[in-house]
Amino acid sequence: MDIVSVALFTPLRRVFDYLLPESLNAHPPRPGQRVMVPFGRACRIGIALERKAGSDIEHSRLKPVEAVLDAAPVFDEEALALAQWAAAYYQHPLGDVLGNMLPVWLRRHRDLPVVPTSRWALTADGVTALAQGSVRAARQREVLEKFAAAAGGAALFADADFAWRSVIKRLVALGLLAPSEPAPTRVVEGAALELNSEQQIAAQAIIAAADEFRAVLLQGVTGSGKTEVYLAAISHCLARARQALVLVPEIALTEQLVARFRRRFGSAVGVLHSGLGERERMLTWSACASGEVRILIGTRSAVWARLPQLGLIVVDEEHDPSYKQQDGFRYSARDIALVRAQNSHVPVVLGSATPSLESLANVERGKYLRTELRSRAGSAPMPVIECLDVRGLELQAGMSAQLLTAIGDCLKRGEQVMLFLNRRGYSPLLICRHCGEPKRCDRCDAFLVYHKGADAARCHHCDRQWSRQAGARCCEAPEIALMGLGTEKLEEAVAELFPSARVCRIDRDTVRRKEALREMLEAINAREVDIIIGTQMLAKGLDFSAVTLVGVVDADSRLYSLDFRAEERLAQLLIQVSGRAGRANLPGRVMVQTHQPHHPVLRQIIDEGYEAYAATALAQRREAALPPYGAMAILRAESSTPSAALKFLGDVRRLLLAEAPAELDLSYPLPAMMERRAGRYRALMVMRAAQRIDIGRLLRVALPALDEMAGKARVRPAIDIDPQDTL
Ligand code: ADP
Ligand code: ZN
Repeated sequence: MDIVSVALFTPLRRVFDYLLPESLNAHPPRPGQRVMVPFGRACRIGIALERKAGSDIEHSRLKPVEAVLDAAPVFDEEALALAQWAAAYYQHPLGDVLGNMLPVWLRRHRDLPVVPTSRWALTADGVTALAQGSVRAARQREVLEKFAAAAGGAALFADADFAWRSVIKRLVALGLLAPSEPAPTRVVEGAALELNSEQQIAAQAIIAAADEFRAVLLQGVTGSGKTEVYLAAISHCLARARQALVLVPEIALTEQLVARFRRRFGSAVGVLHSGLGERERMLTWSACASGEVRILIGTRSAVWARLPQLGLIVVDEEHDPSYKQQDGFRYSARDIALVRAQNSHVPVVLGSATPSLESLANVERGKYLRTELRSRAGSAPMPVIECLDVRGLELQAGMSAQLLTAIGDCLKRGEQVMLFLNRRGYSPLLICRHCGEPKRCDRCDAFLVYHKGADAARCHHCDRQWSRQAGARCCEAPEIALMGLGTEKLEEAVAELFPSARVCRIDRDTVRRKEALREMLEAINAREVDIIIGTQMLAKGLDFSAVTLVGVVDADSRLYSLDFRAEERLAQLLIQVSGRAGRANLPGRVMVQTHQPHHPVLRQIIDEGYEAYAATALAQRREAALPPYGAMAILRAESSTPSAALKFLGDVRRLLLAEAPAELDLSYPLPAMMERRAGRYRALMVMRAAQRIDIGRLLRVALPALDEMAGKARVRPAIDIDPQDTL
């Protein structure tokens, strides 16, 4: 009898064998196809892998596959190969990797969603009726004529001002029109800007590699027109009947970018991000697989989308840490994009004004081709960054007199101001005036943050909240004082200091509602806002064309983080925030307030720019054998009791040391920087080696024992390859 191995969406590091009953002989599952199989007492959806003649499990104990789902596999060969690669590279169970690659819908539901027909074509009767002129109603004739030119969908009616859907319904009822199969959307390209010479060289470097793998680092200063280069390369890709994949860091960024892509490529653009519902995601996924979507724009998980005619991948803001998934399957979408491009023999473009040190090292090694845009596309000059030493100065809501004067001047000229403060909420500390105790979360090692709008003390790590007074167990009658500055308080203070200015705040609290950010961006572009206040969301590529002053209210809080990447992050953040200034033809000014005016990183970024900083940082990393020179992995563990995770890692360390080659460096287990989070105790151990392969080999050997020890110790282990966050 025939046997098929099946991957289930579980964190178990194995696949399962099932029998193929005779009833399935006619249509056995193909590799990558979904199947229903009995598992324990229930039935589960899994992915069929290879067929085989025998199994290590005794035949009588094998159960049969219950049903084969869908007409065709949901994973093609390319996707299965990528999954295998990712499972091996990230040391993650194949079943969970496959689960992460699919839209949730396909993991949960047996049946595919009913797709509302979105395309129609004339029937034979319709052709005759139109030819004979027997269609009287003008609207009906108009619609038939449109479809006579080409089968199509809603896009044909983008400018229609009548109820075309009901006309179509009527025509379908009359048998003159019928739903048609989805087909690749014909792209009608909108107008393009004429590329300047730097942009042309960059686009040409990508286009020249159309049929081969090539990694291109597009390093262009903020406002240099990187997006126009992507558009030109994509246009070429579409002309060759291929699909393009564009990754962006965050949902916040997508709106403006998508609008630009839609203006150029119309309805051929599909979007995937975490803000969509299960059904919408599923429909977009199907439209990509069928070739209907020609350009997919999406956040991290879109890197897995099924694009059978993939011809180009773009990773915008490639330095952004949000490309790394920080829990469960800890993959880097940027790195997966590179592997995918390589497997598919297509070019991949990594774009940024502040490339990651990893990518710069790859340029140095000759692995990536670098192409640069050194000046801004329009007539705007680069903004000038000034360092404001605020030591000993009197500050109002964190702002010096100099910054306040600059804001006032800017408002007088009728220009926009942006204030950056990377702390949301009203005040980051609530202190009892009797005993001096700060309020802490009772499930995390973290202080609570006061949010005035909600009148609540919130934990930013587990999202729990308390009323302002409650939860302080320090004194009988605690008297709570609010200390420190968050964006909410800054907004309040600014409104008081500049009463006639219109202020808006962009942070995770104000954009919680789906439409909120769009509305704010529209108001900003319509010049209905004078002062924009926000957190690092502002640094992520948003385009505010009339901002001429950027104030970085507090640059200090990040200067002393213990994470070896903290300085790189600060450098990128400062350059990106500064890049919001002066994007139109008005010159921009950036004021960075600090108590550390001589800090070497700050100085170098301000005086010499990102390139110079990156060169210094790379030399330091090389000296210390830190990534990108040398490989790193972190073994993490979580437990519900205080010492279990640490003890487990201690045991694992002994196990690994017995097997480890001498060149591999294993740290002692450490409690995580925030040891307790959402009631769980966390610990970690850092592995370093000159070659990544040494870490991989060791983990592969040790994993079975490690999993077993974790089960006994009731600890949840996690392997983090190429960690972004080392605390
Ligand atoms: P980046 O993505 O590098 O920050 P954008 O692509 O957003 O830059 O371009 C910045 C601005 O310059 C945009 O307003 C864009 O329309 C304009 N721009 C880009 N390329 C050109 C060009 N070749 N000619 C004129 N304007 C351009
Ligand atoms: Zn908490």
